[in-house]
Amino acid sequence: MTLEEVSYQIYACRKCRLWQDAKHGVPGEGPSEAKVMLIGQNPGATEDELGRPFVGRSGRFLNMVLAENGIKREAVFITSIVKHVSPQNRKPLPDEVAACLPYLIQQISAINPRIVVLMGESAKATPRQDGIEYIETVHPSAAMRFKKMDDKFRGKIGELAKRMAELNL
Ligand code: SF4
Repeated sequence: MTLEEVSYQIYACRKCRLWQDAKHGVPGEGPSEAKVMLIGQNPGATEDELGRPFVGRSGRFLNMVLAENGIKREAVFITSIVKHVSPQNRKPLPDEVAACLPYLIQQISAINPRIVVLMGESAKATPRQDGIEYIETVHPSAAMRFKKMDDKFRGKIGELAKRMAELNL
């Protein structure tokens, strides 16, 4: 299945309750042959409004930290573990994550990345696959709020940049 086909399935999806309050499905964006995928928790209000991932405050923060490490946002594929906004931006429930995971698995299979960065607790539900390196870190929205989280996030994005250079990505 192509990325585009997965996106159309997400736009029409009714497999869990989250679509009910959403304006847009947010499949993610980035090159179809990206070497790096970033996976967050869920689209927030701005993402829901625009149908694009990480375009609100935490998205601007993410862009800044990527740029500080010499990583172009346009070169990576950015998505989240669930594709519709949650009520009051709450953490997705286990049944919502389970319902949505097949889309993420199809996206990973279509893109075939070398490195996947899991941002926040929810993203850790991503199934691991041989041949892919995984980097776990905190969510950018937590990094924006707490100094300790900020240090951790920046450290892991630095680690990502180092691995990308070593692998010549
Ligand atoms: S969050 Fe995922 S499973 Fe739930 S309705 Fe949206 S696309 Fe479907």
